[in-house]
Amino acid sequence: MENRTRNQSFCVFERLRSVGLRPTRQRVALCNLMFGSGDRHLSAEELYEEAQKAGETVSLATVYNTLHQFTDAGLVRPLSAEGQRTYFDTNTSDHHHFFIEDENEMVDIPLGTLKLNELPEPPEGMEIVNVDVVVRVRRKSEASRNEAH
Ligand SMILES: [Zn+2]
Repeated sequence: MENRTRNQSFCVFERLRSVGLRPTRQRVALCNLMFGSGDRHLSAEELYEEAQKAGETVSLATVYNTLHQFTDAGLVRPLSAEGQRTYFDTNTSDHHHFFIEDENEMVDIPLGTLKLNELPEPPEGMEIVNVDVVVRVRRKSEASRNEAH
């Protein structure tokens, strides 16, 4: 993990260049924040806050644009949970998520623990690209916790 983290931020320039994005200061800064600490699920708002804390002068609009460029370039994968909120996942491989409702947080479902036995036939002339499953969870209330015992 440690090594991977270091490599990820080390590769920021190459990473941007390899997908045809000019490594501008803002892109590099946002890319570092996104990829600097392992796999993450961040909304544009959260990344914007982190950028502010890191002393970067970027607007929320720039953060949105940059995240969409990263998405188009295949660097991140967008995940929708809440109506208007999109999370950007730094892990672009196929995997599924828990969405913790009260905390507005996306967490990976461990690989292989969710089994999909049957998928619908895609509509005529279409093919399935990938399947994103979001399992919404919340903390058990005291009452239901007591019931369980
Ligand atoms: Zn994920």
